[in-house]
Amino acid sequence: SSDLYIEQLRTQFPILDQQVNEHQLVYLDNAATTQKPQSVIDAICHYYQTSNANVHRASHALSNQATSLFEQSRVKVQTFINAQRSEEIIWTKGTTEGINLLANVFADQLQAGDEIIISALEHHANIVPWQMLAKKTGAVLKVIPLTEQHCLDLTAFQSLLTSNTKIVSIAHVSNALGVINPIKEVIELAHQQGAKVIIDGAQAVAHIDVDVQQLDCDFYLFSGHKLFGPTGIGVLYGKLDLLNQLPPWQGGGEMIQTVTFEEATYNQLPFKFEAGTPNIAGAIGLGAAIDFVNALDTECCQNHEQSLIEYTENALSEMSEINLFAKDVTKSGAISFIVKGEHSTDIAMLLNAQGIAVRSGTHCAMPLMSVLNCSGTVRVSFSVYNTLDEAKVFVDALQKVVEILGD
Ligand code: PMP
Repeated sequence: SSDLYIEQLRTQFPILDQQVNEHQLVYLDNAATTQKPQSVIDAICHYYQTSNANVHRASHALSNQATSLFEQSRVKVQTFINAQRSEEIIWTKGTTEGINLLANVFADQLQAGDEIIISALEHHANIVPWQMLAKKTGAVLKVIPLTEQHCLDLTAFQSLLTSNTKIVSIAHVSNALGVINPIKEVIELAHQQGAKVIIDGAQAVAHIDVDVQQLDCDFYLFSGHKLFGPTGIGVLYGKLDLLNQLPPWQGGGEMIQTVTFEEATYNQLPFKFEAGTPNIAGAIGLGAAIDFVNALDTECCQNHEQSLIEYTENALSEMSEINLFAKDVTKSGAISFIVKGEHSTDIAMLLNAQGIAVRSGTHCAMPLMSVLNCSGTVRVSFSVYNTLDEAKVFVDALQKVVEILGD
């Protein structure tokens, strides 16, 4: 049965088996970062125990071994998101670094009056770099508003799009609300105006099958640590011809072909965008995480996650003290809510006292909080290893919290 499958999956995550505040840990903060299966932990250890060396630099055995593992991981990422070529996969520190890279290399392509479009539900990582770019170039930053149901307003998007729109940068899934954005439509509409489309996939890759060729996005970004991999490693996918046209960002070793005191010529892709010694162990760990995901029964896991969301959303809907955001909208991974009249952090602290890890506050989306007219929300976010029992423990604990606060 699927319950048995999930229970077995769960045993691959050693961290989950522990007590917090004398309760069994219930980890429901997966949108912030996922836990790591033993296979990922082992891959990182094994690399340091057997193969550690710098990549691409030497002609000795260990360096060749490290390079080969490092490049194998790149191919795993390529296959995972169905990129056409492995040169289209650039290693970054994470989604944040990837967006900053793009915002910097696009600087020469924009002029005053050009437009960049983001949405009202973006993470700060997909807002601030564009504000910085707008300031530098005189470009205008426009924001797609949300509908009453807290989804992207596509009609408003169409009226924001003009021939001056150069960049559209949108989250695949909202980290604060769990809402899945209609990125296929966004990409099509933006391309009709000749704009380039960047998709922030940080919250999507662990829950939704991503096919960059089918989406036809120009760039796609994600972080390893939200996909069962280590922190400090992430991916920037870009279409080959676009990456070739754009200038490098950081300068240093690895990204060059030849250097004189006067000038440098740049290396080919993907190395042109990978200055300095990369996070080799991180890339290898992310490769192991992708192996883990590939071995999952995807249909079973996606149905399971959906049933956790449905159960929790239904239970919360019946509690009159609770306001759910993006209610009845199809979500991926996360549910966001407030307890009327209470501060979100108080709720999270009272849940923590019962061993339950949830996130509270603005979720790095302060502008969204002002749209929602609240100071912060409580967010529960699920992963494949969460059980229905855990969802029940959470709902019961929340009920208790609400009662205590109501007294
Ligand atoms: N975008 C979204 C939608 C996210 O959820 C996050 C992580 N909270 C980021 C960007 C930034 O990711 P990272 O901190 O791993 O760079």
